[in-house]
Amino acid sequence: MEKTDVLISGLGPVGAALAVYLGRLGISVMAIDRDTSVYPMPRAAHIDHETMRLLHLAGGAEAVSQASQPLSAYEFRSRDGSLLMGFKPGEVTTATGFPQSSMFHQPTLEHALRARLGEISGVSARLGHALKSYSASDDGVVAEIAGPDGAYGVETQYLVGCDGGQSAVRRIAGIELDDMGFDEPWLVIDARLKDGRERLTTIGLQHCDPRRPVTSVPMSPGRHRWEFMLRPGETPEEVVGDEFIDDLLGPFVDPASVEIDRRAVYRFHAVIAKEWRKGRVMLAGDAAHQMPPFLGQGLCSGTRDAANLAWKLAAVLQGRADEALLDTYQAEREPHVRAITEMAVFIGKVVCMQNEKEAAARDRDMLSKPEGERFVVMPDTIGLASGVQRGDVLAGTIFPEPWLETGEGRKRLDDVAGLAPILLFRDGGEAAASSFRAGGGFAMALSDPSLLDEGDRVKSTLADSEAVLVRPDRYVFGRGEARNLLAAWNAYLASGTSPA
Ligand SMILES: Cc1cc2nc3c(=O)[nH]c(=O)nc-3n(C[C@H](O)[C@H](O)[C@H](O)COP(=O)(O)OP(=O)(O)OC[C@H]3O[C@@H](n4cnc5c(N)ncnc54)[C@H](O)[C@@H]3O)c2cc1C
Repeated sequence: MEKTDVLISGLGPVGAALAVYLGRLGISVMAIDRDTSVYPMPRAAHIDHETMRLLHLAGGAEAVSQASQPLSAYEFRSRDGSLLMGFKPGEVTTATGFPQSSMFHQPTLEHALRARLGEISGVSARLGHALKSYSASDDGVVAEIAGPDGAYGVETQYLVGCDGGQSAVRRIAGIELDDMGFDEPWLVIDARLKDGRERLTTIGLQHCDPRRPVTSVPMSPGRHRWEFMLRPGETPEEVVGDEFIDDLLGPFVDPASVEIDRRAVYRFHAVIAKEWRKGRVMLAGDAAHQMPPFLGQGLCSGTRDAANLAWKLAAVLQGRADEALLDTYQAEREPHVRAITEMAVFIGKVVCMQNEKEAAARDRDMLSKPEGERFVVMPDTIGLASGVQRGDVLAGTIFPEPWLETGEGRKRLDDVAGLAPILLFRDGGEAAASSFRAGGGFAMALSDPSLLDEGDRVKSTLADSEAVLVRPDRYVFGRGEARNLLAAWNAYLASGTSPA
């Protein structure tokens, strides 16, 4: 029987990112997908800057950057076009240096991640191989896989279900879903713009018309997305027809000026798995949570799952951490996902109002507030509440990424540090830095001339502290004396409990 350290079932964006991370960390990975090509139907169109940084570490951000465009605003307008509420990008440069919000085309990312997978030794990616069943014990998991040449078994230390909303891994583990009470049918249409047009607009729009709520957003240059809520009584079969779609598009664009690329009816819902880990079996991405797409955060959240889980699995498998560290995966990720899902449901309920009287009351209520309170700067991504030092306001925030001047030109810090934890320190922190390096960390003195601290962002993060320790998923772990930070980090790896 074949053996691997980690078996990943599902090579969507989350499984592929996880496989790249683990492979880069030196873990042997078998990653399977039942399909031979990437999912063809319309899905993610928006990606945030934190996810771009994490995907840069997985080798997928460049392809997205080259085929994406920033969003200039996200507006919610009433039936008559009044601005009910909206978000505009912040003026400041993001901590990661990537645009706060980019509009893209999910298959571009998936192809890039799969190509990257092929370059990493230790990762065996198998398309057309489906997970059929598995049995898990305290010592490992034995999985049965159906491949093109028949069924075969695999012994693995850990199994991660990245197998999407209908996850077989979740079902076999008997893990239930917490239903957060949202379930609405929408038709999603992706179109290519004809005549070489790059975009219709740079603004994302929620047209909150109770007769038919509509979403309209740019995607990668040359593509546009429309989403139409189904009216009561309408069936998926009838709304995907050409004539029906032309009628729907008519008020927004000349249907003859676009070519429909993909169309699908989805039920937008909000569910979170009650357990993300059962012994040696874990869930990530849509297998662990699904949310309505009004904030464009499903794939972003799944990527954060992969970035949170990968280094923990590697540390446990390589004997640098206790298995208890794996318990922090759900403890750290679920509150983050839950907060975003609650926000997405809240916005979904505003958008999906189909009762005319309720929608009129909503509009009156919103329009009674000054525009400055309704059209606000896009909130930044939320940070991590546990798994970081308590009592430090910057612990759990995204560490600003500096550039380094290297012999091979300017590089991002992440390109040099890879997926290691990072210690940046002032004079006095050298001894701790040496032992940090010996444990596989990346340490650098603030005085190192290759560190290009533009805008003094790293210095201001350190403030008066001797050092800052950054987790491999790029959240600030804590600041303070280097040796104390190192002790707290080691204690966290050894016990999985949040440092005091
Ligand atoms: C209309 C719509 C709009 C969206 N917009 C956004 C957005 O703007 N921004 C955003 O961040 N997110 C968005 N999302 C969500 C995003 O698309 C998903 O969260 C993301 O695709 C989840 O990735 P995943 O890898 O977890 O799962 P999936 O992409 O579903 O991949 C799962 C993979 O598992 C494979 N698989 C399933 N069963 C098995 C098995 N038994 N054996 C082997 N392989 C198996 C499947 O073939 C598939 O390739 C949107 C979703 C929808 C529907």
